[in-house]
Formats: sequence, C-alpha cells, structure tokens
Amino acid sequence: KLHNTILELKGNIRVFCRVRPLLPDDSHATDPAVSFPTSGELVGRGIDLIQSGQKYPFTFDKVFSFEASQQDVFVEISQLVQSALDGYKVCVFAYGQTGSGKTFTMMGRPEAPEQKGLIPRSLEQIFQTSQALKAQGWRFKMQASMLEIYNETIRDLLSPRSTSSDINRTESGGLGKQYSIRHDANGNTYVSDLTIVDVCSINEVSSLLQQAAQSRSVGKTDMNEQSSRSHFVFTLRIYGTNESTEQQVQGVLNLIDLAGSERLARSGATGDRLKETQAINKSLSCLSDVIFALAKKEDHAPFRNSKLTYLLQPCLGGNSKTLMFVNISPDPSSTNESLCSLRFAARVN
Ligand code: ADP
Ligand code: MG
Repeated sequence: KLHNTILELKGNIRVFCRVRPLLPDDSHATDPAVSFPTSGELVGRGIDLIQSGQKYPFTFDKVFSFEASQQDVFVEISQLVQSALDGYKVCVFAYGQTGSGKTFTMMGRPEAPEQKGLIPRSLEQIFQTSQALKAQGWRFKMQASMLEIYNETIRDLLSPRSTSSDINRTESGGLGKQYSIRHDANGNTYVSDLTIVDVCSINEVSSLLQQAAQSRSVGKTDMNEQSSRSHFVFTLRIYGTNESTEQQVQGVLNLIDLAGSERLARSGATGDRLKETQAINKSLSCLSDVIFALAKKEDHAPFRNSKLTYLLQPCLGGNSKTLMFVNISPDPSSTNESLCSLRFAARVN
C-alpha cells in the first residue's frame, strides 16, 4: 500500500535539480561545493553537496549539471508541457535561494536565442504543436495572464495601469484592486479584474512577457530585492475543439518563478523584520505545507492559507502534473542554503 502511494505521488510531483555554473562574482572560489556521482554526464540523477569536507548525497528525478544547456533542460520537460494541449493542468515551479538560477531557468536571456529559458521555449512548442494539430481538425484558443504575488498581494503585470505604486496603495488602504480568487465547480480559476489576453502567436506572447518584465521593475529602487521577494506566475489557458470529432479539451500551463527561498530558512530575523519576512514568505512556506500534504496523501491540504496555493489549487491536486525545479548555487559560501533547498526537495520527491 505504501509502495503504491509512493508510485502515485511520483506520477504527480516530480523534482528536477539544476546546478548553475560558478560565476565570477561567487566567493573567489575555485572549487564548486557540488559534485556529481556520474561525472561527465550533463543529465543524471545524483548530486553530492560538499560542506566542510563532508559529502551529502541526494537523488532526484533528474539532475542537471553545470554544463547542461537551456535546450538540454527543455528536452526533459517538453512532454510535460505538451500534456497541457491534451487537457492537463500543469505547473512548473522554480525553487531556490536568490542567485541560484531560477529566473535564468524560467525566462533565460531572451535576447540570446540559445539562452532562452523554459517559458519562451514552452510557448514556442505549444504554438508549433497547435498549428500541426490543425491537420487533424483541432482548433485552439489560448489566453495568457501574468501576475506577481508580493507580500500576499496580487499585482496584474499586464494591466495598462499597473505600476509599482499599486503595491503600496493596496497595502495602505485598499485603493488598489483586491484581485479576489474564485474557482468554479469545473476547476476553472477566476481572478477578478485580472487582464487576460487572447494570444495567437509566439510573437504576441513574447511582447506580453516584455511588458510584464517592465511592469515588474518600473520605479523599483531595488529591482533585484523586489523580484527576489515576489512570486511570478505565468498562466496559459488552452481551449481545444476538434471540428470533425467535436471533442473538446481544456488545459492550463502555469510557469512559476518563486520568491527566493533563503528568507524561509533564515531564522536570525526578529521583531518587525521577522514579521515582514513571514508575510513575504507566507505563500512560499504554505506551498511547502501543501506539497507535503499532497505528498503524504492527507485529506486536507491547506490551500486556502496563502494566495499562491489558493490560486493554483486546481492545478496542484488531483489529475494535475507538477514539476519543481530546485535550483542550486555551487558557491561554497551558499552551502547552508543549498542544503536546505536539497532537503526540502528531497522531502517532496
Ligand atoms: P535567481 O532568479 O534564482 O535569483 P538568476 O536566474 O538571476 O537567479 O541567476 C543568477 C545569475 O546566474 C544570473 O547572472 C544568471 O544569468 C546566472 N545563471 C544562472 N543560471 C545559469 C546557467 N545555467 N548558466 C549560466 N549562467 C547562469
Ligand atoms: Mg530571479
């Protein structure tokens, strides 16, 4: 019975680990604090974290080493992405401390084609496949939305009026929109007032992604700080109809760049600083609670405890597919955080 549970779970939640290369800005280190049991493999299953001469081994569904390219990573998720066209609800998360490569993995450097991340690559594939399926009578309608959750406040990144000051207005007196979340009986999610855009081509989505990136950073005094504390959620809704068979499918693809996990692990904060940290982290710590509850097949997962988990509720339970990337920095000065991330991911896996 236990064995079954583990197998079922593995079908639902998969964990991929990706280690970024050492960067010139890392702590003058010549040796990475990470090694791979099957050395030379771009994609394996094992990873060893090295701290004070001691090895901590971990195993995941996939482990991407330093040299794995964006394409090497995409190849391993393309089937999952494809299943959104078959009517599945799919979530891909990037989890890890700030600077570990979450945004590189999800968005990449869009200006360099070979460094494009999973979001642009997934969208290219979805549009290509949906075109190819026309020959079999399939017609697809797609809708995109992009939002940010900062300190339990939702911000619409595609709203023409969206500026960074929205956050302050909402927090300090409700002048900003409340963006309430509602699910219907069919598992469709509605966020009131959220901008939803019909998209027909990769170019249309690319310009929306640019707009969202701008809306995230405009007016920010410390852009990196801001984005490391907020969750970015890209959602593509897919409605397919087959004109000859009248078959219908409805899929959802959620691609999520999470807030930096270091604020979850750091326990030194006290007083106001601690409160702020907890508020910013509420969605992240609640996401782990939900995922552990789902992993243990508990009857009730605490979806309603945070905006992020409530928003994604229909895409996390039941007949959905979830993939979590745990991003790791090989910088020896990050081993404490890396160990926290790996242990978190190992519990999910
Ligand atoms: P995070 O979003 O987790 O804070 P970033 O994605 O911004 O981290 O990555 C931190 C830095 O490392 C960036 O300069 C990024 O370009 C670089 N980087 C991350 N992953 C890789 C990788 N696989 N290959 C090359 N550079 C990377
Ligand atoms: Mg980032």
